[in-house]
Amino acid sequence: MYENAVTYVHRILRDVIRPGSVVIDATMGNGWDTALMAVLAGEGGTVYGFDIQPIALDVTKTRISGVAADVRLILSGHEEMSTHVDPEHHGKVRAVTFNLGYLPGGDKDITTHADTTRKAIEQARAMLAPDGVITIVCYRHAEGERELDVVRGLLAALPQHANTCTETTFLNQAGNPPVVFVVVART
Ligand code: SAM
Repeated sequence: MYENAVTYVHRILRDVIRPGSVVIDATMGNGWDTALMAVLAGEGGTVYGFDIQPIALDVTKTRISGVAADVRLILSGHEEMSTHVDPEHHGKVRAVTFNLGYLPGGDKDITTHADTTRKAIEQARAMLAPDGVITIVCYRHAEGERELDVVRGLLAALPQHANTCTETTFLNQAGNPPVVFVVVART
C-alpha cells in the first residue's frame, strides 16, 4: 500500500477521487496513473492527461479503452494546462498528479524541468476544488534535484490557511528513492 512512491500516491488518489470527479494527470507517460484516475472518476467523470510526447498518448490510449470516464489526452506541456482545461472545470479539480522526470524506457533527455513544473503546479493549485489534492513525485537525477528544490521551496512558502503541504521520503529504500509531495487545499 505504501511500499513506494507510486503505490503511496495511488492510495491517495483512491481516497480522493470519486465517481464524477474532474482530475488531471499532468505527466501521462505510460498511462498507468491516467488509467487509475479514469477508473476512479468513472461515469460522469473527466480526466485530463498531458504529455509532450506523442508516444505517451498512444500508449495511454490503449490503457483506457472501455473506461466510462471522459478522458481527454492532450499533447501539450502541463505548463499550459489551464488553457486546455474547460473553464467550467476551473475550481472543481479534485486531484492533479505529477510523476516528474522522463518516460521509463524512453529518451532520458525528454524530461520535466523546474521552471515549467513550477508554472504547472501554480496553475494546478488555482484550478483545485476546495478540498482538492495535488501529488508530486520528484526523482533524484540531475534535473530532478533542481526540480525537487524548486517544488520544496514553492510548497513551503504557500500560506498555511490555504494549503496543507507534506513531503514524504522513503528512508530505508535502496538506491536513490524519489520524494513525494502532497498539497491539500483547505476548505
Ligand atoms: N505517470 C506516468 C505513468 O503512469 O507511466 C509516468 C510519467 S514519466 C515519469 C514523466 C513524463 O513526463 C514523460 O512521459 C515525459 O514525456 C513527460 N513530460 C516531460 N515534460 C513535460 C511537460 N512539460 N508537460 C507534460 N509532460 C511532460
